[in-house]
Amino acid sequence: MIMIIENKISKTLYELIGKAQELSRKKPQKVAVLLIGSNFENAEELLHYGVDEVHVAFHKELKRFSLDPFLRIALKVIDETKPDIIISPADSFGRTLMPAIAAALKTGLTADCTELDFDEKGQFLQTRPAIGGNVMAMIIIPKHSPKMATVRPRTFKPAEKIGKKEGAFVKFWEITEKDIKDRAKLLSFTPKENEIDIQSADVIVAVGKGMRKKENVEVAKKLAELVGGAVGASRAAVDAKWLSHDHQVGLSGKTVSPKVYIAAGISGAVQHVAGMKTSETIIAINKDKYAPIFKVSDIGIVADATSTLEEIFKKLEKTAEERI
Ligand SMILES: Cc1cc2nc3c(=O)[nH]c(=O)nc-3n(C[C@H](O)[C@H](O)[C@H](O)COP(=O)(O)OP(=O)(O)OC[C@H]3O[C@@H](n4cnc5c(N)ncnc54)[C@H](O)[C@@H]3O)c2cc1C
Repeated sequence: MIMIIENKISKTLYELIGKAQELSRKKPQKVAVLLIGSNFENAEELLHYGVDEVHVAFHKELKRFSLDPFLRIALKVIDETKPDIIISPADSFGRTLMPAIAAALKTGLTADCTELDFDEKGQFLQTRPAIGGNVMAMIIIPKHSPKMATVRPRTFKPAEKIGKKEGAFVKFWEITEKDIKDRAKLLSFTPKENEIDIQSADVIVAVGKGMRKKENVEVAKKLAELVGGAVGASRAAVDAKWLSHDHQVGLSGKTVSPKVYIAAGISGAVQHVAGMKTSETIIAINKDKYAPIFKVSDIGIVADATSTLEEIFKKLEKTAEERI
C-alpha cells in the first residue's frame, strides 16, 4: 500500500494521489490517504479520484500542526495499516512530520523528491537533485520498510476524477485525549506580512538579471497585477535585492506550475528550470538566442526583456479597456 499523509485537502494532495495511482498501475497495490487535522468534510470526495482507503483522524485540537499529536496519530494508523510506501508534501508539514516518523520506525526517508518510480525488479526509486542541482540522485531504501519520501509541491500533475473503486472506504479514527497530548503550547501567532503565494498563481511573470536594474522590475509587477498573476524571480534577481526570497523560483526557491510562466531575462540555469519546468506554457524573453531557457520554452522571443514586457502590458491593458 502507498499511503499519502496530509493535514489538509490541498492541490498537492491531488498531485500525490496522481503519482500514487501511476505507481500502483506499475506495481499493483492500494492507494491510501491519511488526513490528520480538524476539518475534513470533503474526505469522501477523494474516493472519486481512485483512492482505495481514506483514513481520517480529526479533532478540534488538531487545527494547527504540532509534532507530538500528529506523530502519535500517524504512528497509530501506520501500525495498523502497514503501508509499504509513505509520501507527503515537502512543505513545512511534511518536512517536519516525515523525519520524525522515519526516526520512530527506524526506516529511510528521501526528502524533496522530484520523481518517484519502480524499477523492473519493483524496487522503489526516489529521485532528487543533489550537489547543488548538478546531478539527479536516484535513491533506494533496500532493507527498510516503509520506504518514505517527501515530494515538492507542483512537481506532479494532479489526479483526475476517475470514479469510485469497488470496496473503497473512508475510515474515521477515534482520537482520544491521550492522542492529542502536546508538550508544545502555542502562546501567540504573528502571520508573516505581505507573504506572496506564487505557488497558487495561474500566471507568473518571472524576472532575471536580464531585466538589468531594479526599476525595470516594476513593469513585471504591473503586468502580473493586470492579469491577476504573481511576480517570480531567478536567484540572481533575488541576490540583487530586486525582490524578496518569497518570489524565488527554483531549486533553492519554490516549485511552481502555473498555466503561463513568462521568463523575462532569465538564462534558464538547471537550478531555475527545476522549479518551473512543469508550467503549462512557458514564454521566454531573452536577447541571447542560444540561452538555455529556450530549450524548455513553448514560445521564445529573442528581444530586450524590459521593453517586451512593456509592450505586452500595453497591448493587454488596451484590450482590457476595450472590453469595459
Ligand atoms: C545550489 C544552487 C541552488 C540554486 N538555486 C537557484 C534557484 O532556486 N533559482 C534560480 O533561479 N537559480 C538558482 N541558482 C542559481 C543559478 O545557477 C543561476 O545562477 C541563476 O538562475 C541565474 O539567474 P539569471 O538567469 O537571472 O541570471 P544570469 O545567469 O545572469 O542570466 C541573465 C540572462 O538574461 C539575458 N539578458 C541579458 N540582458 C538582457 C536583456 N536586455 N533582455 C533580455 N535578456 C537579457 C542573458 O542573455 C542571460 O541569459 C542556484 C545555484 C546553486 C549553485
